[in-house]
Formats: sequence, C-alpha cells, structure tokens
Amino acid sequence: MSDKIDQFLEKTELEVPCLVVDLDRVEDRYNQIAQGMAGVDIYYAVKANPALQVLRRLVKLGAKFDAASLQEIRMCLDAGARPRDISFGNTLKKPCAIAEAHALGIDLFVFDSEGELDKIATHAPGAKVYCRILTENGNAEWPLSRKFGCEIDMAVDLLAFASTKGLIPYGLSFHVGSQQPDPHQWDWAIGHAHEAFEKLAVRGIKLEMLNMGGGFPAQYRGIIDPFEHFAETIRQSLDKHFGADQPALMIEPGRAVVAEAGVLISEVILVSKKRADATRRWVYLDVGLFGGLAETMGEAIKYPITTPYDGGPSGPVAIAGPTCDGADILYEHTIYELPLALRAGDRVRIEAAGAYTTTYASVGFNGFAPLQEHYI
Ligand SMILES: *Cc1c(COP(=O)(O)O)cnc(C)c1O
Repeated sequence: MSDKIDQFLEKTELEVPCLVVDLDRVEDRYNQIAQGMAGVDIYYAVKANPALQVLRRLVKLGAKFDAASLQEIRMCLDAGARPRDISFGNTLKKPCAIAEAHALGIDLFVFDSEGELDKIATHAPGAKVYCRILTENGNAEWPLSRKFGCEIDMAVDLLAFASTKGLIPYGLSFHVGSQQPDPHQWDWAIGHAHEAFEKLAVRGIKLEMLNMGGGFPAQYRGIIDPFEHFAETIRQSLDKHFGADQPALMIEPGRAVVAEAGVLISEVILVSKKRADATRRWVYLDVGLFGGLAETMGEAIKYPITTPYDGGPSGPVAIAGPTCDGADILYEHTIYELPLALRAGDRVRIEAAGAYTTTYASVGFNGFAPLQEHYI
C-alpha cells in the first residue's frame, strides 16, 4: 500500500500488534480533500486519530480541527493549532469543559438542544454557536443517526433563542453517517439546511455557516467513488439549494484523512477447525474488537487483510480476536478467504487501519496492552 511502510517494516523489528502510519499519505489525502473542496474550511475530526504526529502534520498544512472533548482541544493546542481554528463539535459537553474551552480561546460550539444551549450561554458567553440537525444516515456503514441532532423547526427556534441569550447564531451542521458511500446523501441535508436558513432570515437572523460534517469514505474492501466525485456532487447540491448566496462552508473529515495511511500488523495466534472435515477455518489474531478493531462490531467496517501467501490457494475463514470475550469476533458472516498456507506465527496486514483504531483499544482487557503506534 505504501512503499515507505514496506521499507520501514523490512528494516525494523516490530512488536505486534502495532499500527504503522505513513504521515506523507495523511498529507496527500489532506491535500486531495483540500483541493477537491477549495474554499471550504477543513476541520479534521480529531477522534479519528489524535496522535500528536498526525495533528502536527495537519497544523503545518493549515488544517482546522473538530474536537470532541476538552482533552482533544488540548491535544490540538499542544500540536500548535490556534484556538480560533478549533471547533468544539460534540453536542454533549460538561459545563466545566465548556468553561475551560472558552478560557482557552475556543469560540465555536455546537449544540442540538435547549439544555446544551443554556450551558454554552452560561459558560461561554458571546460564543458562536451552530445547531446540528438530524439526518437520515441512509446507506452509511457506520451510522451516527438518532443520537445527534434535532428536527429543523427546533433548530430554527433554538438558533433564534440563542441570540436572545447573548450568543451568536452562527450556522447549522449535519453528519450523513461515517463511511458514507453515497455522495447524494449530502443533498437531502443541504436542502433541509437551506430551509432553516430561509426560516431564520424571515425572523431577521442571517446564519453565516454550514458545516457538512464528515462521512467521506475510505478505501476498505469494495469500491468507493474518488473524493473528487463527492466534492463535485456536494458542490452541485450547494448550487441547487443555495444558488449565489452561499454561506461559509465547513467539512469535518476524519476517516478519509487518516484511514488509508495506516497498516495494522498482527500475528496469527491459531488456525483451527471446529470439526475435522470443516471447510471453514477459524483464524485467531492477536488483535480484535477490544485491541483497536472496534469498528468490526456488527462486521460494519470490512478491512482488507493481506498475508505473505497472497495469490496461493485460499479458503473461507472466520476471523476472531485474542480475548476471552465471545463477542471478540471480527468476521463470521462476512465472506473472507485467506491462504491455506497461513499458520500460527505468521504476520498479516490489516490495511487502511489508520482511523478509529489506536484510541478505540481497551486499556488492558484480558491483560492485552493497547495498540502500539509508529508514525513515519
Ligand atoms: C466522527 C465525526 C466526524 C468524522 O466523521 P468521519 O466519518 O470519520 O469523517 C465529523 N464530525 C463529527 C461531529 C463527528 O462526530
């Protein structure tokens, strides 16, 4: 996948499991997104991979940041980001986190309820706020629906209310669901957002910003459209709904920036069968649902897995992690085939693992250490 990673693996004795991330590939992806979405502010969703090396590289490239917690805000500041380039993008914040973020100079906060708006008004007086609206999340392989956002009419009322509380009603946001393969999913949300812009204009409030969230897919198994296609489709939707009167625009890509830059190296612990004449083998790896591959929950994210024997004869497998939890199965229903030559002790590569892995690992379930990380 990356010559740089291949070379690093050849000359380095690595303890496994570990994640190796090629920072140049992070940079390439960021640049591709920035070029495809010219004029749009790119707020990297820190949660996808908050490693200092990643954040530093992105700061250098001029990225802005979507932080989900006070801790993530501090990580961005430590990496050199300016407070005004950080959005506190979680609709769930403790009052002390809001107050401290505000004291650190953060001026942009999201909300999706009156309760959250009250907290922001009290602890970050005068801040810019944007309201997250509900979206369908149709087709997304990792949906974020139901939990976040409110209905359009409520968003309109709350943004109008925000100005009476001394806050600046700044804009709207939505998220079409993570690993969203369908660029047309943005259209519905952009159309709805435009409705809210109009309704607020009637009430004398001019919103300035539309945040179109993350969701841009990474290349796992299967085919995805190139980023340029997403950018173009979204641009057409913006023209269709907003015409010449376009607001300032934000996106918050996480996965699309870092996933393909990372390879997770794992050792096969056991290859076995459940009965002597079974055709399907069980392959147990030293990393699973609790060691960094949380997104295989429900077999949602289907990582490409490569081995030293690729090209040779292969057969069907179920793939599981090393812990004593029966839920620690990566793929049992999804069809995966691995080489018949694969044995305990072999190393496999779990590709495109740079997003939602390192920080998604348990701290020591069953005594297994969190995933080791190398940034090159
Ligand atoms: C997780 C998240 C993102 C990033 O989503 P990706 O699908 O990884 O691009 C962006 N914005 C918000 C508010 C999020 O919660």
